[in-house]
Amino acid sequence: APILCWLRRDLRLADNRLLCAAAETGRPLIAVFILDPETEAIGAAPKWRLERGLAAFAATLQGIGSRLILRRGPALAVLRDLIAETGADTVWWHRLYDGASVARDRAVKSALTEAGITAQSFAGHVLFEPWQVETGAGGPYRVYGPFWRAVRGRPVGASLRAPGGLTPPATWPESDALEAWRLGVGMSRGARVVAKHARIGEAAAQARLDAFLRGPVDDYARLRDFPGAAATSGLSENLTYGEISPRQVWNAGLAAQAAGAPGAEVFLRELAWREFSYHLLYHFPEIETRNWRAEWDAFPWRGDNADAEAWRRGQTGEPLVDAAMRELFVTGTMHNRARMIAASYLTKHLLTDWRVGLAWFAQCLIDWDPAANAMGWQWVAGSGPDAAPYFRVFNPEAQAEKFDKSGEYRRKFLHEGQADPPEPALDFLAAAPRSWHLSRGDAAPVRRIAPVEGRARALAAYHAGRGES
Ligand code: FAD
Repeated sequence: APILCWLRRDLRLADNRLLCAAAETGRPLIAVFILDPETEAIGAAPKWRLERGLAAFAATLQGIGSRLILRRGPALAVLRDLIAETGADTVWWHRLYDGASVARDRAVKSALTEAGITAQSFAGHVLFEPWQVETGAGGPYRVYGPFWRAVRGRPVGASLRAPGGLTPPATWPESDALEAWRLGVGMSRGARVVAKHARIGEAAAQARLDAFLRGPVDDYARLRDFPGAAATSGLSENLTYGEISPRQVWNAGLAAQAAGAPGAEVFLRELAWREFSYHLLYHFPEIETRNWRAEWDAFPWRGDNADAEAWRRGQTGEPLVDAAMRELFVTGTMHNRARMIAASYLTKHLLTDWRVGLAWFAQCLIDWDPAANAMGWQWVAGSGPDAAPYFRVFNPEAQAEKFDKSGEYRRKFLHEGQADPPEPALDFLAAAPRSWHLSRGDAAPVRRIAPVEGRARALAAYHAGRGES
């Protein structure tokens, strides 16, 4: 009987435990991606990117004589249909760790098991299962430093080679047509501008890793904080869809470290931040929706408002923040330092609830990841585990002076004041909705609030919320 491999965020052949294990058995394998309500709920850019990733992986499977079957509906119902149609007696998947996925997968597992089907989940989306990393006292880590020390030397095993072939079933079940799902429909700027920056599929992910380790890794520790320098790997987009596994990246980082690459250790530490975010999300699923530190419930955060809309449009009048928001809009990603500055500006200077920002990032990021996004927002806002202290308010002017001294990053994305703006700035103009009324001759937007005044206002609001004067 065939094995059903239920693919989710694991669109790769190499180091894919499901496909490798199925290939080893020699049994027929049917790979299926299910567009279930949980997946339909993701944001516009992630969905657009998912469509591209599915197209690439379907072609990869076809290249080795297999197929990617596409079905729509609640996961359990779809799996039951496929079992009935194909005679499959086994369903495998890689575990995910957000609250909604955990609940769905538990229900699927128990229902299938009850029906006599072998339903089995595998590790693969993270290096270390969240329940296998425990503090000395037992229980999860809440602080990154000790988490890092606990995982840094742990063996992760060798990455698995891509299977050379997969046994097809006697007959293939029906599949939806990917185009019919219209996953990119909410993202008209996807094909026009974001596509220029996306690197889609397993081969592109591997090429990205190789290119990073051939050069940029050496200067990574020194340059990774400069948004204008192409100094980071760009792999978040591929990791989130599993076009490369964290283990492949980790092992490559270890090899670079052993070969003496100066930045490799810092790179491994960053990968461990991704692990830490999943550790937190699994143990504290509410991190996606609630202040992790209850004292922040008293902060008079504003809900959505006109300042937040200016922030989304890259029109706050704070050049570094606006450049960051426009980078997000036209490329579907944003440099890590820029994410911190833009998030700090929204939550502190504009006194806006971090969930407003989290939701916009979830709409716009092609590397959107429920764990890293939630941890990132709560960290910046000050409300999360191991967060920046409340009085840490990034001064966007000082940050620009320090991390974009030449103005290169700002010029790349801001057309205002430039006779001949570069392509990304023009792409922003081309992709912005007409209702934003932007044009080449625009004057710089007016500042919402001066950086120093904004900091004082945020601190006053924090103390007032706590009943302090
Ligand atoms: P590199 O510098 O090359 O790092 C290698 C890998 O390490 C990354 O691909 C990523 O998987 C991991 N990593 C690096 N920094 C972090 C970090 N701070 N937290 C978690 N993992 C990290 N990352 C996402 O992947 N998806 C998100 O939705 C996301 N939202 C964020 C929101 C905010 C407010 C902040 C402050 C950060 C967010 N990050 C998110 C983390 C980080 O900004 C990105 O992972 C990073 O910019 C990706 O670029 P890169 O692949 O070139 O990273």
